[in-house]
Amino acid sequence: MERLTLSPAKGMAAEAWHTGRPASPGLVAGPLFIARPMIHRESVAGSPAEEAAKLRSAITTSIAAIEALQAKASDDAAEILEFQIAMLGDEALAEGAFAAILDGVAADAAWTTALDVQIAEYAVAEDEYFRARASDLSDIRDRVLENLLGGGGALPPAGAIYLGEDMQPSRFLACDWSAGGGIALTGGSPSSHVAMLARARGVPMVVGLKLDLAAVKSADAALLDGEGGRINVAPSAEATEAFHSDVAKASNDAARWEKYLLQPGKTADGERVLTQINVAAPEELDSLDPAICDGIGLVRTEFLFHDQPRLPDEASQYAVYHRIITWAAGRPVTIRTLDAGGDKPIAGLSMEAESNPFLGLRGIRLSLAYPEIFRVQLRALARAAAAGPLKIMLPMVTVPDEITATATLLDDEFAKLQAAGVPCRRPDLGIMVEVPATALAIEHYPAAFFSIGSNDLTQYVTASARDIAAVAGLNDTANPAVLRLIGEVAGYGRKAGIDVSLCGDAGGDPRLLPLLLSAGMRNVSMAPKMLARAKSVIAEWRAS
Ligand code: PEP
Ligand code: MG
Repeated sequence: MERLTLSPAKGMAAEAWHTGRPASPGLVAGPLFIARPMIHRESVAGSPAEEAAKLRSAITTSIAAIEALQAKASDDAAEILEFQIAMLGDEALAEGAFAAILDGVAADAAWTTALDVQIAEYAVAEDEYFRARASDLSDIRDRVLENLLGGGGALPPAGAIYLGEDMQPSRFLACDWSAGGGIALTGGSPSSHVAMLARARGVPMVVGLKLDLAAVKSADAALLDGEGGRINVAPSAEATEAFHSDVAKASNDAARWEKYLLQPGKTADGERVLTQINVAAPEELDSLDPAICDGIGLVRTEFLFHDQPRLPDEASQYAVYHRIITWAAGRPVTIRTLDAGGDKPIAGLSMEAESNPFLGLRGIRLSLAYPEIFRVQLRALARAAAAGPLKIMLPMVTVPDEITATATLLDDEFAKLQAAGVPCRRPDLGIMVEVPATALAIEHYPAAFFSIGSNDLTQYVTASARDIAAVAGLNDTANPAVLRLIGEVAGYGRKAGIDVSLCGDAGGDPRLLPLLLSAGMRNVSMAPKMLARAKSVIAEWRAS
């Protein structure tokens, strides 16, 4: 992603900017709301029976409060709250606290200690997914604690930049973001629930800031740069002025790009470039007009499986796929089978503690290892295909046998559905081209279409993990070796009459898009919010 470059403010002290990791793009200036770490006030213990009753009632009150929040929440937010309700309803969560109460410890101290132990375990988990869940647990801890101690967690005023160690999802949902505002965290992770909510709501967010919270003075107007991953908590007048001119420039640019949104992608010399969208959650589509795109180039189904107490059954998968196809109103929809594993673990399915998860049992490898689970997804897809032009795409294909093995399962499920008189259609079966072995010998892969996964292809070709900041400079799709492979796959597709698209982040990246066009790509799929700008880049590009 190209970073929005802010003009260097004249005379601004370099240390005024603190850098972390970008979690949600956007520029915002606003008063700082500093969430200082909660200071634990230990109360005097009553009898164990009294303390246990106090804790039980605080847990019940907390569940009721989260349920009330959930009733007003959108689908994705409601799922997160569901997870918290399930955790709080699980007897095992408070077991340690009740045991300590029996030993004479006060309810608040017992609860805090018990939860801190579990939070610490999550916080040091090897897996980013579990680390990110630590903030759900601290949310639960603080909410119950507030109920025990009779306090109330203060919320940032509308338009403020929340600065803290972490932010709990329920606190995010209780905030009023209608007047803007942002989030800056010294902890956190771009893949946490709260980061996902921030991106979906357009709230700029930065995580992992190197900043001593205790030393930060309140500021009337701090500056947050969600795309550059940095904050200025004590901006000079010059820095503020420069920032405001960057905000104005960013909004002018956005308005200029917006006029391309409903137009078809077309180069300056009039060649058509298909522009599709990537979808992680069906709710994302509710506010979008399907006329902005030529179709859906990637549905990442693993996100439908995230945070679920169990894997979704055929009926619930079918409902989601059907909803997406209905939204697309006749445009092609490419649904990728589960790409679990790697950096996207699914509890109870993907392998735990692989020494190198990106090279492990992920994507199609995992699906073929669990054919009974895979068959459920293939059935749901074949049924949904009766409602529109659905295509199935396999992630992480490394050898042609993975395609033939899947085709056998799909044909088998399709035959069973037909025999049972269930409406269905046998969708085309295509593959992601994201493993170098596949890109290098593409003519050996019997697929109906190819979609280049530039995110993984880049990390595998450059041997630099996509989630390690220290090698981010090497992990570049502009590397000539990556571009050469992309060009060769595009060229082979043209020659063989097989559709080739690209659905990695490079497709929506204004820096990389011209290089992809030069490599011969004429079909790109990207996050919906990148579409307008990408079409403007395409409109300015010419083949010669
Ligand atoms: C990719 O690897 O480019 C891709 C689109 O898949 P994901 O980012 O989900 O791995
Ligand atoms: Mg991938």
